[in-house]
Amino acid sequence: MKELQQSREAERHGAWASPEVPEGAAPDWTVPQNWDQLTDEDHRVWDTLFARQQVLLYGRAVREFEESLEVLHLSRPGIPNFTELNEKLGPRTGWEVVAVPGLVPEDVFFEHLANRRFPAGNFIRKANQLDYLEEPDVFHDVFGHVPLLAQPAVADFMQELGFLGRKAVEVGQLHRVARLYWYTVEFGLALEAGEPKIYGAGILSSFGESHYSLESEKPHRLAFDLRRMLRTRYRTDTFQQTYFVIDRFDDALHLLRENDFGALCAELDALPDIEPSYANNEERLAA
Ligand code: FE
Repeated sequence: MKELQQSREAERHGAWASPEVPEGAAPDWTVPQNWDQLTDEDHRVWDTLFARQQVLLYGRAVREFEESLEVLHLSRPGIPNFTELNEKLGPRTGWEVVAVPGLVPEDVFFEHLANRRFPAGNFIRKANQLDYLEEPDVFHDVFGHVPLLAQPAVADFMQELGFLGRKAVEVGQLHRVARLYWYTVEFGLALEAGEPKIYGAGILSSFGESHYSLESEKPHRLAFDLRRMLRTRYRTDTFQQTYFVIDRFDDALHLLRENDFGALCAELDALPDIEPSYANNEERLAA
């Protein structure tokens, strides 16, 4: 189950966190954000990354992403204070950002999602490592994931993933949920007026992949197909070789509600996995 251990983040080249709760953290792994202890350099790194991505994502990200940056006041300088951010986010969708010291185990992660809490790193990368991350930091987690949590369709979908993940941990189907999470929440594209746009946090927070996912001729951009997605392995060590392009955000949520995920997994277990480098011409989205 190598893929399982690589499941959540492109930046997470290692395993999920070990099960011991870190010193000073609550049993659910949360810690105070300690916003007051962030340094001027930390805030400058956020501002640099933010300015770079905002220019790059203009016209590339889904419209809802731009809207949500405004709604949550994320364009204010400096690393967001989670208390202030939650005052904006909570009334919209009931989601809350909680601080964690780094990687959390999968059961803890999905338990947070199931309760509409998004765990976000309480640290930021260094100025000399703008494009390299060992663990998801506050920029990936808050800039990449949190804006779309202000959108009701995404908010519901993420909670649904929490329920699914919690159950999958129990029945040994975590790799299917991990693929679903990967190809939607982290690396999803969605059509807008017939054109693919970015909604996955792994792309939204990545300088290189923002271009590549939409404009490079290398990766496959496939029409969304839940069965196909759940059979497709993924790479964590490079830009994606395959992206799934959904018609609208809401479609993913409906698919989850309309399908018996357990039965679907049982059906798919009889079929071979698909490599991310593979695609046939019929599956590709018309250019
Ligand atoms: Fe992420």
